[in-house]
Amino acid sequence: MVTEKPLAGVRGMIVDMDGVLWHGEAALSGLTDFFRVLRERSIPFILMTNNSSKKPDEYVAKLERMGVRVSAEEILTCAEATAQYLATSAPEGTRVFVIGEEGLIHAITHRKFTLLAAYESGAQFVVCGMDSGISWDKLATATINLRGGAKLVGTNPDAAFPTERGIVHGNGAILAALQTASGVTPVIVGKPEPYMYREAISRLGIDSNEIVAVGDRLETDILGAVRAGIRSLLILSGVSTTDELAALDYQPTWVMKDLSELTDAIA
Ligand SMILES: [Mg+2]
Repeated sequence: MVTEKPLAGVRGMIVDMDGVLWHGEAALSGLTDFFRVLRERSIPFILMTNNSSKKPDEYVAKLERMGVRVSAEEILTCAEATAQYLATSAPEGTRVFVIGEEGLIHAITHRKFTLLAAYESGAQFVVCGMDSGISWDKLATATINLRGGAKLVGTNPDAAFPTERGIVHGNGAILAALQTASGVTPVIVGKPEPYMYREAISRLGIDSNEIVAVGDRLETDILGAVRAGIRSLLILSGVSTTDELAALDYQPTWVMKDLSELTDAIA
């Protein structure tokens, strides 16, 4: 049950994007007002996503098309968080085999890790994010390296991924295949695990008690906030509905209808 005044004591925000700020290419109502009020009230924010395929700059450009200006440092993708995780775990030059798209490849090469090509061995890490060009050769190279002692790092554990043709396998399904093939359990960086939240909290630079995580998906955005020990706000403009709340052993701190209601609460 909601017991606290809406957003009491909140000074910073971690905000999910799809389903909160937009649906696909369509900005949700109240988007520009929300960011105007965040800036006017000097509320720092991190926009955080389990999508590893795009670079932060692409989100900056997308928001600019929607009339909102943010910096690349205000965007945290699970690809960037994964590269940060590697940087805190291993030195530059460490050999990494990556299954993933441009956002992940860019984040990892930017940190000066050495990327292995197909059938090269000796990786210390196999990193797996969404890759629409997944192939036998990539899965085989990952498996050979995992069986050779590499650690497995997953950008996100999503079981399913929505496309125009229907729901297809998400990155969690590929991680399960690699785990089955190698016996190696992955470390997961993205939601609902706490690592990416901790990175966002660190970037915000304020006490975690003063931060709220805003999202439209209970099993990722809200569960992740609970695991990271911060308060959460479920927005009903996306995937999850209030009908699902009764069956859960965790709850969002607050529930709101849409971005306009959130904007009113911080104005
Ligand atoms: Mg979402």
